[in-house]
Amino acid sequence: MLVPMKTLIAIGAHHDDVELRCGGTLAKYVNDGWHVVYVVATTTPHYALWPEETESGRCRSNAEVIELRKAESRRGAAALGVTEVEFFDFKSLYWYKDGTHDRRYFDGHALSVEEFRYLNERAPGREFIVSATHCPAAMAFLRDFLRERAADIVLTHFPEDAHWEHYATGAFVAAAVRELVAEGAAIELYAWEPAGRNLRAFAPTHFEDITATLEAKCRAVAGFTSQFKELRGPEADLWLDWVRNRAREYGALAGVPCAEPFMRFDVEAHPKKGVRLAETYDAARAKLGLA
Ligand SMILES: [Zn+2]
Repeated sequence: MLVPMKTLIAIGAHHDDVELRCGGTLAKYVNDGWHVVYVVATTTPHYALWPEETESGRCRSNAEVIELRKAESRRGAAALGVTEVEFFDFKSLYWYKDGTHDRRYFDGHALSVEEFRYLNERAPGREFIVSATHCPAAMAFLRDFLRERAADIVLTHFPEDAHWEHYATGAFVAAAVRELVAEGAAIELYAWEPAGRNLRAFAPTHFEDITATLEAKCRAVAGFTSQFKELRGPEADLWLDWVRNRAREYGALAGVPCAEPFMRFDVEAHPKKGVRLAETYDAARAKLGLA
């Protein structure tokens, strides 16, 4: 009897998140015959300046950086054997004045209406990822995306990650998965290790043995030269030892040579209490008498 192909979807906020946090797992699932989908949720012109740009005061244009970052993601996904790469293009709070050194990252919790309006007019893409969970059109978009691909497993950011756009992405994905599970879908949802300072609440429930795919992960991460200056020079391999050592540390906890940690969300334990306003933004506005 034919066995249907299973699907794993990894949704990261930025272009290097997926490789760094679950690259070994993605390569492993590809090798095991799963259909793996790699998603970047935001579009952002963030990158680390090259020395000549620091000296001259001129930078790459935002459009150029966004294309560069997408190319890095496609190469990263290819290094993991992943063939489906999707860019959701939600707006990011990283805002750089085009081609200049005026580089800002806005604090998503402290933005005034005027600042949001300013950013909204200039930043490319759909809604801001930090408000996607509260936007009916964005929720409908993500539900449709997950439904169409019949996701079996979804991996994303930990909703208590210290980075605004990381935890916003995690909360957005969790909200959509919860709605689909409430409709009867069988989706398992896992968070990967949070970035930086907030390991406090992250208690891994699962480890994936990535011993056989660790070097594929390193090849994928090595391509992100726009993000990590260290990867541009001869010391790149030394920098990648951070990735290898992290995998060994988690491997030690899991009883295997190298591992990536995940925390399972108990999606059924938190049913959505409210009534969905409407399927789309326009329908929601009509229902509120704003259309
Ligand atoms: Zn990120």
